[in-house]
Amino acid sequence: MPVIQRRKTVTVRIGNVRVGSEAPVAVQSMTNTDTADVPATIQQVAALAAAGSELVRVTVNNDDAARAVPYIVEGLAKAGIHVPIIGDFHYNGHILLKKYPDCAKALAKYRINPGNVSIGRKDDDNFRTMIECAIENDKPVRIGVNWGSLDQALLTRLMDENSRRPDPLDARDVMMEAMCRSALDSAAAAEHYGLAHDKIIISGKVSGVRDLIDVYEMLASRCDYPLHLGLTEAGMGMKGIVASTAGLAPLLLKGIGDTIRVSLTPKPGGDRTEEVLTAQQILQSLGIRSFTPQVTACPGCGRTTSTFFQELAQQIQNYLRDSMPVWRQRYPGVEELKLAVMGCVVNGPGESKHANIGISLPGTFEEPKAPVYVDGRLLTTLRGDTIVEDFKRILNEYVETRYGSRSATEELVSAH
Ligand code: SF4
Repeated sequence: MPVIQRRKTVTVRIGNVRVGSEAPVAVQSMTNTDTADVPATIQQVAALAAAGSELVRVTVNNDDAARAVPYIVEGLAKAGIHVPIIGDFHYNGHILLKKYPDCAKALAKYRINPGNVSIGRKDDDNFRTMIECAIENDKPVRIGVNWGSLDQALLTRLMDENSRRPDPLDARDVMMEAMCRSALDSAAAAEHYGLAHDKIIISGKVSGVRDLIDVYEMLASRCDYPLHLGLTEAGMGMKGIVASTAGLAPLLLKGIGDTIRVSLTPKPGGDRTEEVLTAQQILQSLGIRSFTPQVTACPGCGRTTSTFFQELAQQIQNYLRDSMPVWRQRYPGVEELKLAVMGCVVNGPGESKHANIGISLPGTFEEPKAPVYVDGRLLTTLRGDTIVEDFKRILNEYVETRYGSRSATEELVSAH
């Protein structure tokens, strides 16, 4: 697969994670617990980190949350979890960071929303205070513009300027410009106050896919700060996943984006880690990073009147997911494994040969046998009621040998 040329940026260190064009695109997420609830927040951060979130953001919205942050970071460290914790500040960040120095110290990065601090006003003390805290504690910041809380003074000024132009721009274009200017002017102000250039990440989140692409293309062309990508308020379930993918993919394919978040609205009581798995799947589908073995399964059609192959594909997928926490440690590179579970002879053998391990199940009226291919070669043909278990055994043997030191094909072929 052709390598994607990343847009060149400076590298920003967030705790033990590097973000920028010299580092892999990082996956991040955000908790939805009450930050003041230390055990619940630790539990959710741990789940997000276990799912593969490399950075986790928590809201720091009041005194109780700010007081809780050092205990959260300490509790995670005691559990051996060292994922950087980012503090999300709005309105009162300048107060909380000053009042709770242990919170300021424990966080790995501060997210500042220029739309709700005093940036751009005559006295921009609140913004300046947050930047000074970042400098004092040697922390990076993300200047995170969001169109839902865009700096209204800036927008009004640009709208006024636009209306005086002989050829006024469309209101949407002015809003895009305001998003960019808010981010870049704030970054310039932060540097003016003494924050180093390589301590700044910026984002310009909107909820429309095409707006997102336009804003980030503008940002990318005007600076070398790393960019945090995400479609804000993406929504629930399929809508959120599709909209986020539609927005992030064109940018990532152009090399724009150094860290991503998929802002899914979970169902009540739903699993927060879904946003991490979705972000990983976007990167893996684009061939940018690998996180977990991929199963290619055909959609099925009238040639497969039983659900057996769907069940097998599901079982293999679950088996991989359950095995990965151990496999990831024990078998480096296993995340690049490719499997195929196919429903009949039409595309089954062809697709199976392209995978590391592929099985072509019998379609309706086909002889009840399932050839298994390993690295493009027919290894064996499975029959009977033990196909699932036999296939898992072949998979285990392959993983053991391929991601150990010996050639899988040699081992398996000699074993059968
Ligand atoms: S591989 Fe066979 S069962 Fe699967 S979609 Fe194609 S024709 Fe249908």
